[in-house]
Amino acid sequence: MVGLPAMRWRTPLLCSLTLAGLACATPAAPPAPAPVAADAPGPLGSDCARRVCVRATLVEGGAGQLDVELSVPDAALPAGAKVVQFPFFAEPFKAAPEGYVAFISQGEGPFSEQVEPLPGGRRLRYRVALEHAAKDPAHGLDEVPHRTAQGWLLVGRAFIPLIKVDGVVQEGLPTELRLEVGERPLVTLAGEEAGDARVGTLGGLAHALYYVGPHHERVVRQGATIVRILSQDYDAAGLEPLAELVQRSLREAERALGPAPHRTRLVIYDKQPLGFAGGVIGGDITLMSSTPPSASGLSPVGAVVVHELSHLWLTADQPWLSEGFNTYLELIFGIKVDGADEARIQQEILRAYAKYQANASGAGPVRGAAGLHAYTGGAMVAFCLDARLEGAGSSVPDVLRVALVEDGGGTTVARFHEALTAVSAPAAAYLDALLDQAEPLDFGTCLSDAGFDQELETYDGFTLRSLVVDVLQITGFSPQRAEVFRVKDGSVFQVGDVIRRVAGQDILLVPEIDGALAHVKPGAAVEVEVERAGKAVKLTLPVPKLDPKARESHRRLKLRAKSRPLRPAP
Ligand SMILES: [Zn+2]
Repeated sequence: MVGLPAMRWRTPLLCSLTLAGLACATPAAPPAPAPVAADAPGPLGSDCARRVCVRATLVEGGAGQLDVELSVPDAALPAGAKVVQFPFFAEPFKAAPEGYVAFISQGEGPFSEQVEPLPGGRRLRYRVALEHAAKDPAHGLDEVPHRTAQGWLLVGRAFIPLIKVDGVVQEGLPTELRLEVGERPLVTLAGEEAGDARVGTLGGLAHALYYVGPHHERVVRQGATIVRILSQDYDAAGLEPLAELVQRSLREAERALGPAPHRTRLVIYDKQPLGFAGGVIGGDITLMSSTPPSASGLSPVGAVVVHELSHLWLTADQPWLSEGFNTYLELIFGIKVDGADEARIQQEILRAYAKYQANASGAGPVRGAAGLHAYTGGAMVAFCLDARLEGAGSSVPDVLRVALVEDGGGTTVARFHEALTAVSAPAAAYLDALLDQAEPLDFGTCLSDAGFDQELETYDGFTLRSLVVDVLQITGFSPQRAEVFRVKDGSVFQVGDVIRRVAGQDILLVPEIDGALAHVKPGAAVEVEVERAGKAVKLTLPVPKLDPKARESHRRLKLRAKSRPLRPAP
């Protein structure tokens, strides 16, 4: 290795390659980058002397990899820049057996050696291993690049780091990306196309999906919004239910919140062997599912679509409003899209409450919440506020409509509060009280406000383990829908079955089956409906007599509409 004089080294590297525990912070010892080569800094693209240039070459074979060259001319950086860092996104995928796995690999040798200070700039060369699919093909496809039927789904932030100058992230740096993927077509919404390059900002190109390979496309328009639905596995006819869902969701959102904004979004839907994974990158959606596209807005896959589309209208400066209220919109738009009946609406409300309860204990006030508590707690607050506003002849969507900045500009907590106060000052005070209380929300009051009679029923239930192993005779299932991943010998289920109904009750999640069996006598049998290879199949499930230890007392809230149905949206 030929070392450079230490004084040349003024670019400590900060990266978050957490998998290998690689310490990429300020190097302890001066690293030894390759000497300045005679051919450097060779232009990668049309204007790489003035803007950041990224050239990524897809190398097939094995799990696949991207060989990347990133050049950063000083002329692209703010004047007087001293310390330049390249923080990579630590992109985990969640369901691998070993837990969180980052998918950027360090390639050969310590990463920090690959920074080359060049006259007038810097260059990094690195390799991104697309290895997650090889590790676990059934899971973990959220937000990570993966091989598709005839190509790849790539995510910009897997191979484009951010650039920090003197501690400040520079997402707006003009950047050119050249993605070499062979002869296959490439789809992305990021930047402007210039030949085989994309020109945009660093952040815009990093927070984008890149879909590589021959595919089908179905375009849906609502007002100024354009949604491009893409798939390599389904043709236009197969995508029709999804197109219907997108169209109806946009229509409901437009009715409730005002004109659809000037935006274009990608929705990508492909197959995977088991389960379902959904990811969102910069507003574009990628879904992988063992089941074909569905037109239902209340289905697990459909809810992701509805949620992301309603973000075209609602974004905000705090998570309880941006994510929590959007989760409530997802629910009420899903109900509208599906034309759900009263029983289904009640079921969905109780489901939302169950999700809230799972996160609420000890989580503190919703106002400062982050993560899941912001989604489920914010949704509960929205439900309660909506029920209260009905008395004032208004609704949460009505208030949002006033608070939202035109054409997809989102809102702020201050704007929302002002619009709410104009409708009803007591409702605004009620909202503040809900947001600030430390103990879990009193959902009973909200249900009464919404017009529901409630009843708490106690019954002899199964422990979750006993329900799954002894009653259903399965040993693995999806947490997101009642899909069977593994079975015991003798089970009536097969791997890949999605359980839809048990004893006359609709089922979305495996734990809900317990309630469906509440009044079934041990030793009796119940009718079960599953979706098997795309067809509805009826099965008979015997309910065994079990040791009392396998049973426990369970409580469930039952609802009856009192005087009026829930009026979720105008
Ligand atoms: Zn969201």
